[in-house]
Amino acid sequence: MGTGTLTIDLGALCANWRGLAAMSAGETAAVVKADGYGLGAGKVARALAREGARTFFVAVAEEGAALRQELGPDPVINVFSGHMPGDADMIHDTGLVPMINSIDQLIRHVEALPGHPFGIQLDTGMNRLGMEPAEWAAVAEVALEQNPTLLMSHLACADEPAHPMNAAQLASFRELTEGLGIPRSLANTGGVLMGPDYHFEMTRPGIGCYGGLPFVDARPVVQIELPVIQCRSLEPGETVGYANAFTAPRETRIATVSAGYADGILRALGPKTHLYAGDTPCPIAGRISMDLIGVDVTDLGSDPASLELLGRHQSIDTLADNADTIGYEILTSLGARYSRRYLGG
Ligand SMILES: *Cc1c(COP(=O)(O)O)cnc(C)c1O
Repeated sequence: MGTGTLTIDLGALCANWRGLAAMSAGETAAVVKADGYGLGAGKVARALAREGARTFFVAVAEEGAALRQELGPDPVINVFSGHMPGDADMIHDTGLVPMINSIDQLIRHVEALPGHPFGIQLDTGMNRLGMEPAEWAAVAEVALEQNPTLLMSHLACADEPAHPMNAAQLASFRELTEGLGIPRSLANTGGVLMGPDYHFEMTRPGIGCYGGLPFVDARPVVQIELPVIQCRSLEPGETVGYANAFTAPRETRIATVSAGYADGILRALGPKTHLYAGDTPCPIAGRISMDLIGVDVTDLGSDPASLELLGRHQSIDTLADNADTIGYEILTSLGARYSRRYLGG
């Protein structure tokens, strides 16, 4: 087989969700936008539904409609982007719950689908999505008569618990929603970890379920194993790959593995990243190309059949640090070419 193998441990995913649910005061939903952070929204959401999750969040109605096919009629599917022009049929036919972000969306929703459930997203300072406090003040009374299912907002700095933005957003959210008798949700993974003040009636973790920071106790969910296509020996002074970026300092054995930046193995991961042969780290030699990576396996003393990129020895957050990005981007970049194996769940 020429492609890398991406193994997704649904048992670990479920254990991570359960861990976050055990910390959460109220209901624990799950965020499965962007195809379940790149891991397969259907597989991920079905495993979590079996584990007890009853509410899922996606970014756009199209994701929600696809997820409905996977989950059947019962679970609640909430849509962060709300009710966009042209979405009414999809929202109606697949039973989605838009999180309404503006007065325009509210009017669109109640005109097109009177009586159809919706939630409201409020902006508490992130300035990304949701009604501003003044907008909310203007329509709250009318909106509340329609019985919204959820009032939510999103934290901008939840991965930095000491950041004053967290307390400021919490205070703003309380002020906008206190005493209205509608279920509330503020916490992503970072918000769950900040404790019960942030939990309200529903938490909505994403990255922690998938094994990423800031949930330090998460079990790793993804493993990537890349097949070696061929190995060759270099004399000192010979070079590897584009722009001759690696020069052999000694007699060197190079393994060429079948994967590259088209598989989300970002070029910027380059020099700091190792591939593992069992427990032995082997440095990347030269530039990562679109479909291929050179790896210095000299110190192994034998030619490996495959090398591990992600797993016990190297997490999505190690890779993220190496490429100056975040675990979320590593996961959602992984791409379509791997053969995917699902374990457990
Ligand atoms: C992506 C997202 C989440 C989940 O965030 P994590 O940091 O992955 O836990 C929750 N709420 C909103 C609005 C989001 O966009």
